[in-house]
Amino acid sequence: MDNTNENINGDNTSDKKDEYEKVCFVCRRPESRAGKMIVMPNDIYICQDCMQRTFDSINSSGINYEDMMRMSNMPTMGMFGNFGAMDQVPEKNKIKKRKEDKKEMPALDVKNIPTPHEIKRKLDEYVIGQEYAKKVMSVAVYNHYKRVAADPSVMDGVEIEKSNMLMIGPTGSGKTYLVKTLARILQVPLAITDATTLTEAGYIGDDIESVVSKLLLAADNDVEKAEHGIIFIDEIDKIAKKKETRSRDVSGESVQQGMLKLLEGSEIEVPVGATSKNAMVPQVTVNTKNILFICGGAFPDLEDIIKTRLNKSSSMGFNADLKDKYDDEKNIMSYVTLDDLREYGMIPEFLGRLPIVYSLDRLDEDMMVSILKEPKNAIIKQYQKLLELDEVKLEFTDEALRCIAGKALEKDTGARALRSIIEDFMLDIMYEIPKDSNIGTVTITKDVVEKKGAPVITMRV
Ligand code: ADP
Repeated sequence: MDNTNENINGDNTSDKKDEYEKVCFVCRRPESRAGKMIVMPNDIYICQDCMQRTFDSINSSGINYEDMMRMSNMPTMGMFGNFGAMDQVPEKNKIKKRKEDKKEMPALDVKNIPTPHEIKRKLDEYVIGQEYAKKVMSVAVYNHYKRVAADPSVMDGVEIEKSNMLMIGPTGSGKTYLVKTLARILQVPLAITDATTLTEAGYIGDDIESVVSKLLLAADNDVEKAEHGIIFIDEIDKIAKKKETRSRDVSGESVQQGMLKLLEGSEIEVPVGATSKNAMVPQVTVNTKNILFICGGAFPDLEDIIKTRLNKSSSMGFNADLKDKYDDEKNIMSYVTLDDLREYGMIPEFLGRLPIVYSLDRLDEDMMVSILKEPKNAIIKQYQKLLELDEVKLEFTDEALRCIAGKALEKDTGARALRSIIEDFMLDIMYEIPKDSNIGTVTITKDVVEKKGAPVITMRV
């Protein structure tokens, strides 16, 4: 929905220039922040503040004002003209102008936001299981964008809370995959960051605001688009408060503190085309009020905290149950409460800004088998398509699929292990098959997966 079409046919460079903001050569602020620019020769722009400051300092140093003006009008050697080549701002650092008439070109139209059941149906095409998580996300995302797109005049002053989410699930259970698929369905920019790389500003590592720079980059430097995007912060459990803190906790509690205003919504100044601020990159203001934040983490020891709490409460009082009733519960994470997360080390203010908390199920063998063959871009389908191009049919027996799933479960890295297991035995097959053009069908059996035998080959008739 941007206006790039305007430039498709004509090679109108001045039109293209108009898409980007002018940036002050001296202070690097864009026109939207610094105000109208004074145009100098060689496409150099100076904001009025910097121009005034230049004149003030010239006046105080006693240089003749009229001589200066004459110099600045000379095309190549003016006051700023001889720096012309330095002002060739690379494309990645340019800031797209905001669209002025928002009514004419709404970035998001309430009527066009897919409904929760449509979002869920799309997610179903790609993500296996995780029914509860898919449902929660579909509703939360729908409400979020409805809130963003709603006309304030119909809201009667009612402020709908932001639907930031906290997703808890074992590694490889589909957290990142869910968010990526969601962003694709909604066609909004997505930035994925690892909480472990974030530190409080001023320490080694990326400062917290760098997540917004990443989103801006994903939105092609279009601030308006970025302001409707999604930021996924993975490994959020790694910034839990440290149990004993003798030194300053720069990558734990203080990162949580530092993220508060970002999650809630505030105006952040971010460098364009870079993740750290420095004097040479232009800066732009991004409001995070409408950015959807999704935090995810495996929270490895959280199960014990939940179990202890549940066992304690069930072995007390008149309705006392067995003390270890929950020890065998498979999806213990689904019982998580805010108190458990607080005990884990997440600070209450941080949790307060993530109102939607849910967990993903640990993948079992049946789910793994489904992941292998059912999603739209399932790994098996990808291999089948590849061989189809050589006019060879590839088949897997059910036993073979179960064997792959079993091996993946042993690795304890969720569905992520599936691809490497398949790649391991498929390499030889993909190498040998194109040698013989008479091969019609290749069937992968359990023996192939266990490397005890060769695939069953049927020749073309
Ligand atoms: P994590 O939970 O650690 O973020 P990912 O989302 O990165 O895990 O999952 C790794 C890969 O495993 C994904 O790219 C996807 O192909 C596959 N996968 C994981 N869970 C599922 C699922 N429920 N349905 C389909 N594919 C899945």
